[in-house]
Amino acid sequence: MSGQESESDTTLNEIERIDKEYVFGTWSFQSEVNPTEIVHTDGVTFTDANGNEYIDFSGQLMCSNLGHSAERVTEAVSEQINDTAYVAPGFTTEARAKLGKKLAAVTPGDLSKTFFSTSGTEAVEAAIKIARFYTGKQKIISRYRSYHGATYGSISVTGDPRRLAAEPGIPGTIKAPDPYAYGSTLDPMQSLDYIEEMLKLEGDTIAAVLVEPIVGSNGILVPPNEYLPRLKEIAHEHGALLVCDEVMAGFGRTGEWFGCDLFDVEPDIMTMAKGLTGAYQPLGATIVSSEIAEYFEDTMFCHGHTYSGHPAAVAAGLAAVETYQSENLIEQAREAGEYLETRLDDLAKKHPSVGDTRGIGLFRGIELTKNSKKRVPFGTREDKVSKGSTVVDEVASKAYGNGVYVANMINTLIIAPPLTITNAEIDDAVTALDSALKVSD
Ligand code: PLP
Repeated sequence: MSGQESESDTTLNEIERIDKEYVFGTWSFQSEVNPTEIVHTDGVTFTDANGNEYIDFSGQLMCSNLGHSAERVTEAVSEQINDTAYVAPGFTTEARAKLGKKLAAVTPGDLSKTFFSTSGTEAVEAAIKIARFYTGKQKIISRYRSYHGATYGSISVTGDPRRLAAEPGIPGTIKAPDPYAYGSTLDPMQSLDYIEEMLKLEGDTIAAVLVEPIVGSNGILVPPNEYLPRLKEIAHEHGALLVCDEVMAGFGRTGEWFGCDLFDVEPDIMTMAKGLTGAYQPLGATIVSSEIAEYFEDTMFCHGHTYSGHPAAVAAGLAAVETYQSENLIEQAREAGEYLETRLDDLAKKHPSVGDTRGIGLFRGIELTKNSKKRVPFGTREDKVSKGSTVVDEVASKAYGNGVYVANMINTLIIAPPLTITNAEIDDAVTALDSALKVSD
């Protein structure tokens, strides 16, 4: 197709056409979806090249936690680049040291030393390596409804069917069932019994159990309160570490700093990205307990990246964490989340195709169903990968036409707006969704 215009290309402007021809899209935007040129972002909105403004009801890829106008962060990045644009990771900067200290303060308990990278998937890769080196064991238990990233280690621990194209992946990864109350025959706590059984059967070979405390892109699954504390207990009983992947749930999304704070659980290793800078710069982080940190004082951690602790990225991270604190954004997310819950309940009452609304804080999902008694999904996880468009895609597309951007994964609309969203903006977005849901009713 090089140099030729396809039929759909006539709807694209020049930039979009060039982009489509020369840029290899990620799997989120590869098949049916044409690139849309965005020319401006502001507050909780973004604007396309035709001047259409959209409410960003998913914070782009569930990462723009600070909204699109966090001046403290943009200023910190620009000052940093003007001052010291880059130094190799063997040197340090004020921002890197201070962000390390800050993360030790805001993460739970004894988590104390951070390895910096540039993305969520790299944060998970580091966690897998650290767990294996530290325990001297190889296997990792993760869960089917999970997403941990696209590089080989992370996609291998991912349960989402997008992993299938990358299989066999890295050796030593085992999947367990999830605490998915709406769509599974297993009770959430029974799924935990299953993991306990796996730990027993695998003997002393499991380095870690790796979970998203609140599952994000695989459906916004909040486990029962007893789940995560018990998971940590059984992992430790079998000599395995608990790794919490907070890439999506972290930084106020749930109304707490981290998803595991909801359950008072302190993991041995925690991964972060997305909200860590509010998406103002690419930054990943893997924080470990002081015991694990101590182990690596005299044992080489064979790992590193050119841009580990990149000055502009850590400057963004430091300014972002300071912004969450100074603007009380965690509390704001909790309060706005309560309001959002009531508005989603209204949608559930009104639309037969809304099977379940669930989540916590500003991290919520609307699962659609063809039949609410039998809980039949409109699209399965496999449909999403093999066929692309589902009814849920059509609902999201209609909402976009109504001026609201909402991400959708598998059978669920994912609502994760900037933590700065007001109740009036929530109302506007819910009105657009209300009309869009007629597609699935
Ligand atoms: N872990 C979780 C829980 C995620 O949601 C994601 C991305 O959505 C990742 C890891 C991978 O992050 P990235 O896309 O920055 O590599």
